[in-house]
Amino acid sequence: MSELKRFSIRTFGCQMNVHDTEKLSNLLYHAGYEAAGDESAADLLVINTCSVREKAENKLYSDLGRLREWKAEKPGRMIGVGGCVAQQEGQTILRRFDHVDLVFGTHNLLAVPAMLEGAAQGQSGVRIEESASQDRFDLPERHPAFEGRDTGHSFVTVMEGCDMFCSFCVVPKTRGREISRTAASIVAEVRNLVERGVSEITLLGQTVNAYGRHDTRRGVAEAAGTIPFGGLLTQLDAIEGLRRIRYTSPHPLFFDEVLLRAHGELESLCPHVHMPVQSGSDRVLEQMRRRYTRADYETIIKGLRVVRPDIVVTTDFIVGFPGETDEDFEQTLSLIESVGFVDSYSFKYSRRPHTKALELSAEEIAPEVASARLTALQDLQRRLTLDHHISRVGSRAEIRVEGESMHGPGQVRGRDLHHRVVNVPVGDVGAPGAGSYIEVDVVEATPHSLIGTPVTG
Ligand code: SF4
Repeated sequence: MSELKRFSIRTFGCQMNVHDTEKLSNLLYHAGYEAAGDESAADLLVINTCSVREKAENKLYSDLGRLREWKAEKPGRMIGVGGCVAQQEGQTILRRFDHVDLVFGTHNLLAVPAMLEGAAQGQSGVRIEESASQDRFDLPERHPAFEGRDTGHSFVTVMEGCDMFCSFCVVPKTRGREISRTAASIVAEVRNLVERGVSEITLLGQTVNAYGRHDTRRGVAEAAGTIPFGGLLTQLDAIEGLRRIRYTSPHPLFFDEVLLRAHGELESLCPHVHMPVQSGSDRVLEQMRRRYTRADYETIIKGLRVVRPDIVVTTDFIVGFPGETDEDFEQTLSLIESVGFVDSYSFKYSRRPHTKALELSAEEIAPEVASARLTALQDLQRRLTLDHHISRVGSRAEIRVEGESMHGPGQVRGRDLHHRVVNVPVGDVGAPGAGSYIEVDVVEATPHSLIGTPVTG
């Protein structure tokens, strides 16, 4: 084992990357490393990259350039690059930045401890081979180093990869083909987490509700150990001590009746769905190869509101997709109003390598037009978010405490069932620990969060 003992990880991108960082931290703890307070104290710095937008990729390259100095400050320091850009660029990163020691792809986390040993002997390496095996889900148990830092929440991977090939998206190239984990291993992991104090989980998958679909279609589900997604939720709901289940991100194409009903029946399934829609125009949705129409999306939301009237819906948008007209964009704005999204992530279209959108004959949207559309969309969204927050004032909410509020000591921050942030001044009552649940009365609405006071007595 090398003498390097302290690590730091910079994480970019989606929740899948956030969870990969947790998994990697766990592997590093088991390999004898500990978390560094900050990068200046670290011997190993890992950048967990995202390639969904060009900007993130460019930032990686400028960060790597600057890290040459960081590495030179202390002998023996190492730099690793993981995630989607690593998967996409592999050897090119090592060729371009000779101070990088290891590059590992999205299927190669388990190889990192051995790669570090090699790097300590001066052998820099690249591992980006794709794997179709379940082995990548076989991670060691959570290391005790996680205890005490927990907020009672954990991500749990149920499937990885994506076979949808939306025309703007590089993920099928960087995360590989869809593979679903066995239901038994998911249930076992969740039981284990609950025994260790986790009470809320978020099931993760690129198209999480497509879980098991290929096995079911091929008639091999039993042999493969998978079940339909709705059935998986039912099994997890039965685990005692598990209070909240969330999942992200579902694809409208796989939002079936069973999943819809689950929202009305399963006690621990939270009344919040984050389902990317991307555009409100059927013409653009077709060009994006999303395989649903605006009406399909609206039908799902109407169905959800029948079984769970208080459900909160959030989403993702891309504006300025090639060929998007003013009228298409108006359709997106009208969808925001008709669904009443409570929040959304929105971005300008970004050209990505290896994607079908590059072959479209439609004209690219001028950057200033795309920027103006993004501003208009975000202005509208801000108004709807605030409207929702105002509508909650006077109601009661249960929150899971995540820790100290960003507004400073004397306040804690938590999430309610609908995934809204609630800040709670606790004053003399004393701060409840991370992971605990408190009931609050919602007394104030702000654009980004709710403010609550603890219910006493
Ligand atoms: S469903 Fe589409 S946008 Fe989502 S990861 Fe797959 S290809 Fe990308």
